[in-house]
Amino acid sequence: MPRVLITGAAGFLGSHLCDRFMAEGFEVLGMDNLITGNMENLEHLLGNPNFTFYNNDVSNFVHVSGKLDYILHFASPASPIDYLKIPIQTLKVSSLGTHNLLGLALNKKARILVASTSEIYGDPKVHPQTEDYFGNVNPVGPRGVYDEAKRFMESMTMAYHTYHGLETRIARIFNTYGPRMRLNDGRVLPAFIGQALRGEDLTIFGDGSQTRSFCYVDDLVEGIYRLLLSDHAQPVNIGNPNEITIGEFAEEIIKLTGTSQKVIYQPRPVDDPMQRKPDITKAKELLDWQPEVLRAEGLKKTYEWFQSLPEEKLYRKEHRDFADFRRK
Ligand code: NAD
Ligand code: UDP
Repeated sequence: MPRVLITGAAGFLGSHLCDRFMAEGFEVLGMDNLITGNMENLEHLLGNPNFTFYNNDVSNFVHVSGKLDYILHFASPASPIDYLKIPIQTLKVSSLGTHNLLGLALNKKARILVASTSEIYGDPKVHPQTEDYFGNVNPVGPRGVYDEAKRFMESMTMAYHTYHGLETRIARIFNTYGPRMRLNDGRVLPAFIGQALRGEDLTIFGDGSQTRSFCYVDDLVEGIYRLLLSDHAQPVNIGNPNEITIGEFAEEIIKLTGTSQKVIYQPRPVDDPMQRKPDITKAKELLDWQPEVLRAEGLKKTYEWFQSLPEEKLYRKEHRDFADFRRK
């Protein structure tokens, strides 16, 4: 039975990846320090003999006994308000954490896939973004802690590939959404749906003309799975090229939820990218992959999941208390 270690397992994407690898007949080791994740995302797997959970901060040290065939490094805060609150942890997990996991992969002769991001393109001057674009990142701006750590992660991963001959894969993930997103993580989809469900106005940052391209989680997981099993070490964009303005997106959520609330405008965050859309030519050619789920369908499934949450979660407006982690 192939054995895979998934970091960030209790998070949104990590937990869906655990499900997929379990379904494919892997033994799955999930690792997470729960800084932004939630054990509820993994509850259904606990007790399954093919699943083990390790509560561990991968920035400090990573050890697992026995063989490992694959590692997926998905641990990292991923929402702008998370990484603004815990900037040092964010820098550490994609730099020191990545180094630890590359070392483990080398030691175990495992193939490793790292979760990079469209944020490495910063506020892009090339549109849509192709993998050969180097990006436009402000290293000392508020988003720099995430963007630069992910850029370092790519660089370190490539160095292990060229210098040590390690089998590595780099996925550049664009905005992904679906069930198990944290309602209060600040990302635009849970923010809008949460506001609609609570009967609040939807907060658009800026004038709403900035664009994003949203990929449903099942499509993302399929792309990651195919990339892992491919033989392509260069970065590959995984995302949905269907681009939409945030203003239009708010209108879609209003229609979907039937809320009678309106939109209100708030200041745009510093360095918030103006446009984002993946060029997925490479993924199509190399992996024979492209997204299948239409936004209307994906949003409906996601909304139904949010609707099924207990009422008290809806009103738990307070963001995570990171105090314990900040000391580390
Ligand atoms: P998430 O916050 O739901 O999950 C991240 C998980 O990593 C959490 O469970 C958190 O507790 C864990 N974690 C953080 N630091 C850790 C550490 N030091 N040690 C162990 N665990 C740690 O976020 P997500 O949306 O699931 O994102 C997962 C990965 O995908 C991240 O690396 C993110 O950068 C990347 N990504 C996500 C998106 C997206 O749209 N969701 C887009 C681009 C890239
Ligand atoms: N956004 C918004 N209202 C919100 C949350 C986000 O208008 O309540 C905007 C944000 O400014 C950005 C876009 O939605 O332009 C996507 O933001 P998100 O934090 O989801 O992801 P990212 O900026 O990392 O793509």
